[in-house]
Amino acid sequence: MLEKWGRQCTYCGAKNVPLEIEHIKPKSKGGSNRVSNLTIACRKCNEKKGNRSIEDFLKRKPFVLKRIKAQTKKSLKDTAAVNATRYAIGNALKTFDLHVTCWSGGRTKFNRTQQKYPKDHWIDAACVGETGANVFIPKTLKPLTITAVGHGSRQMCRVDQYGFPRTTAKKQKVVKGFQTGDIVKAVVTKGKKIGTYIGRVAVRTSGFFNIERFVTSFLRKMGQRRGLVGNIANDYKALMVTVI
Ligand SMILES: [Zn+2]
Repeated sequence: MLEKWGRQCTYCGAKNVPLEIEHIKPKSKGGSNRVSNLTIACRKCNEKKGNRSIEDFLKRKPFVLKRIKAQTKKSLKDTAAVNATRYAIGNALKTFDLHVTCWSGGRTKFNRTQQKYPKDHWIDAACVGETGANVFIPKTLKPLTITAVGHGSRQMCRVDQYGFPRTTAKKQKVVKGFQTGDIVKAVVTKGKKIGTYIGRVAVRTSGFFNIERFVTSFLRKMGQRRGLVGNIANDYKALMVTVI
């Protein structure tokens, strides 16, 4: 149910509040317990709706009504597949001599709230299962967050606003031994851009590369600032090497 309705109150969209099972067609009016007649709602909305019909309850919110009606028809096929796969993985792991235990998301949340930790994915990860009932997470602890920027794109060529090709297809992914996304160090010895640059390279077949510098304590120590350096060629003017 939580999955199907996006873990929020169907009627007002409230998140991170206790959600209750709600009968779309009230039980008192012959509504069934079938999944297609159930949704989730916050206490306030559940009480407010009472035993009114959904059409009556949402008569001033026709768009919400339309969305809910479409959603009730959505099948739970995907959810069922995920669940089946989850159990299959668990059972497969149990056939090895591994200590495998399975816990519900409800247990995780219980553990976290009991210990008064704020809601966060990495904190939830620490609060899973039996061992998660008593964990010490110092307030000063911050997870290392990284952004995966990848090595170039699979798109064959850029398109204009109408979707027609704007450029020709990329001929090569690796230019002069470098690929977009490589972290490089370029030592420019001649011309306007004399200096040393460290950053993420974006290659062009012309051989003139852009280097995007990002701030890390390491770069700061090297006297580097954030920003893009354009048109660095790996030629007699500059020596470029891959760092990572
Ligand atoms: Zn609500």
